[in-house]
Amino acid sequence: MPEGDTVWRTARRLHLALAGRELTRSDLRWPSLATVDLTGRTTLEVVARGKHLLHRLDDGRTLHSHLRMEGSWRVHPVPGPARLPGTTRAVLASAEHVAVGASLGMLDLVPTREEHTLVGHLGPDLLGRETELEVVLDAYAAQGDRPVGEALLDQRLACGIGTLYAAESLFLRRVDPWAGAGSLPRETLTAVLTTARSALVANCSRAVQRTTPPSLREPTWVHGRARRPCLRCGTPVRVDPLGTPPTDRVLFHCPTCQGSHPR
Ligand SMILES: [Zn+2]
Repeated sequence: MPEGDTVWRTARRLHLALAGRELTRSDLRWPSLATVDLTGRTTLEVVARGKHLLHRLDDGRTLHSHLRMEGSWRVHPVPGPARLPGTTRAVLASAEHVAVGASLGMLDLVPTREEHTLVGHLGPDLLGRETELEVVLDAYAAQGDRPVGEALLDQRLACGIGTLYAAESLFLRRVDPWAGAGSLPRETLTAVLTTARSALVANCSRAVQRTTPPSLREPTWVHGRARRPCLRCGTPVRVDPLGTPPTDRVLFHCPTCQGSHPR
């Protein structure tokens, strides 16, 4: 699942390839957009908002996409790949670059001034300059008994944190992911949030997501390491469900380091 930093890097790649240039090719393979042709429009900018990508055009419209679980946007030099993947949902090209969106979870075209109807339900973007960490901490503290791991993943409270950064920041701060968010001391919530945010920011400029120091071979402390020994204490790492269907996820944790109690 792409995290905020993946979406941010994708937006930057698309922006560098397309911003300020006229679209010379537009192929939107999405039922509601099948007749839309963006050829001749100029890309103003491509930005990330949480896990959403906003591709703003000079005609006052925004092409909105979401990577969901498997989606990606890849940028190629012209003429682009000889064969497009069967999962291709969008192709946009300038004179120099071809951007191919595959397995996208959402694709919409909206007036730029109405972008908030798509992303307005999101909390502050942890990668945004305007992020008010105090506002996010207040939102977490108001969650009562709701597991803190679940609160971290709730994009309405703050956007950018997926299961990797939630698991890693809780592990690094030795916090039980199932502890009630509202029951944790403010300094604990602050430590978890700033750890997650630092990891997100650091990974914006890296090709491979990593939360461990370069001296360790493993890129993560617990995420993706079920049944393997905890890098701190040797206890087998566990993975347990978190949250309630249909938004339930799984989270990796060390029961010893974090004293975790899945529920
Ligand atoms: Zn451990």
